[in-house]
Amino acid sequence: MLYQHIPTQSSVNEGAGDRIRMLMKLRNSGINNVEVLSAMESVPRELFVEDAFLEHAYDDTALPIPSGQTISQPTVVGWMTWALDLEPRMRVLEIGTGSGYQTSILSKLSRRVYTIERHRDLLAMAEERFAHLKLTNIVTKRGDGSKGWRDVAPFDRIMVTAAASEIPAELLEQLSPGGIMVVPVGNNVADQILLRVEKSQSGDISTQHLMNVRFVPLVQD
Ligand code: SAH
Repeated sequence: MLYQHIPTQSSVNEGAGDRIRMLMKLRNSGINNVEVLSAMESVPRELFVEDAFLEHAYDDTALPIPSGQTISQPTVVGWMTWALDLEPRMRVLEIGTGSGYQTSILSKLSRRVYTIERHRDLLAMAEERFAHLKLTNIVTKRGDGSKGWRDVAPFDRIMVTAAASEIPAELLEQLSPGGIMVVPVGNNVADQILLRVEKSQSGDISTQHLMNVRFVPLVQD
């Protein structure tokens, strides 16, 4: 008799439960934007964490990645992404590629993401993940992101995923009129705030305090 392999329901759903739990947690934290939720549903977070932390891939916590850095907590990724108010035609600059998790979510919601990371090894791993996931609208660069990316500026949106001591002036310059930047600010880990910075059409800057956060420092070379 010919044996036909039919996947059982449990093998199909393996791992899906954790992802659903993460989505429920995002909703419970107040994120109700359908685009942000479906982008986060479509990016497999387990690809971005170290093997040792695989079983915690969908927990709502930051986790260690190489070079002493961290992959951000899912609810913080959700809030920061929502705060950027992305539209599909937009060009986004991200500072601090890290694992590439946040980059991948931005790539689902915008036309092109330019991302800068200072650690070469982290960037190489993130690039492999982008290729594996066939995310072809991400452009990467190694360097000090606090200086922005002058050749391809201005940007409709800027997201900084490391804490700066103040809003980096060069990033503010490279933000388009009508643009939005989300940036954690603070010198002390226990005392960081997430800011949403808006530049009006006439160039006026307004800032809004979103929440308290804990990010690794933005290191300026
Ligand atoms: N968004 C990442 C979080 C990474 S943590 C994720 O989802 O995984 C912040 C990252 O910012 C680290 O990888 C760190 O190396 C990087 N970083 C810190 N200062 C930087 C700078 N000046 N320029 C570019 N990257 C920087």
